[in-house]
Amino acid sequence: MQSRSRTDEKKRSPGMPITVASHTISPDERLRIEMPASRLPTGTWLSVPVEVINGKHKGPRLWLSGAVHGDELNGVEIIRRVLRDVSPADLSGTVIAVPIVNVYGFIEQSRYLPDRRDLNRSFPGSPRGSLASRLAHLFMQEVVSQCTHGIDLHTGSNHRTNVPQIRANLEDPETRRCADAFAAPVQMHSSTRDGSLREAATERGIHVLLYEAGEPLRFDEAAIRTGHNGVLRVMKRLGMIQKAPPRPRQKPLNVVSSSWLRARRSGVLHLTVAPGDMVHPRQIIGWVMDAFGDESRAIRTPNAGVVLGLTNNPLVNQGDGVVHIGRLSEESTDSPPADEPAQAPAAASEIGEAPPRLEQAADQSVDVPPDAL
Ligand SMILES: [Zn+2]
Repeated sequence: MQSRSRTDEKKRSPGMPITVASHTISPDERLRIEMPASRLPTGTWLSVPVEVINGKHKGPRLWLSGAVHGDELNGVEIIRRVLRDVSPADLSGTVIAVPIVNVYGFIEQSRYLPDRRDLNRSFPGSPRGSLASRLAHLFMQEVVSQCTHGIDLHTGSNHRTNVPQIRANLEDPETRRCADAFAAPVQMHSSTRDGSLREAATERGIHVLLYEAGEPLRFDEAAIRTGHNGVLRVMKRLGMIQKAPPRPRQKPLNVVSSSWLRARRSGVLHLTVAPGDMVHPRQIIGWVMDAFGDESRAIRTPNAGVVLGLTNNPLVNQGDGVVHIGRLSEESTDSPPADEPAQAPAAASEIGEAPPRLEQAADQSVDVPPDAL
């Protein structure tokens, strides 16, 4: 009884004021802020839009970031929907939402900044560095350094689309707890990349999920819905909100490693798999051919796994990554592979063979169902 009343009391602890970009937001308040970034060559100030929802009650501080790569838009919409659902009176803790981090790239519909730098290779940044480095520094100072948890929302890059997936340090128990609550169709332990937002935040002891879903410059409703529900489930798991959509019935597939299948010749690509499809060893997942359909070369998977992502651009050069395959952990591999033996000769990932009717092949695929509402 005693411990229960202590828990209730803790839940009811009043929230604390928070200051972001020189604006102080009291508990039980929400505020939209224009965080000044730099001037454009025209002299106009460019600012990063931020919305802070400061809960009436004490709790974790969570940032949500979208468009760190300026052309990755699903996260912008996910954040819009989450903000619509959360009110400060019902919130324990604080949400700092930054739907468009790379404002320069967003304007240009580009992944990069005007100097062609990648913001997600520029963290933690510096106040006297490049434009990307300065923006990274601003985001670290005003947003990340105030938070206990973060969710960074991305899509595939450069004509590539990803099945909804969480990438995170799953060896950290708190991060794992958040990833499990998010319950994306696929989750993958991944080490951080040099200069990434996730690396810079992790080094400060902040628990970060990276959500990857869909492709640049497109809204993908299933990816958005999965992300929206996932963020709410994480917030509920953290005790920030009381209600969230139920977890999907299907458990996330756990991916332990991944690799890209590359085109061994240049040509026109016809793929017969979709993101989320399960593949078995030596399965034909597409063909590269010339414009007349001659000289077709099948592309086969060396190993079993799940299609994490693929290119939507049918024009490929030799060496281009065409399909990203994730190898599943043993607990995830109950699904039937193989109507073929598992020994794939190493050199046989591409052999001459006529393509079957693509419609038929696509019908054989196994879809990961979209998230439950
Ligand atoms: Zn990205």
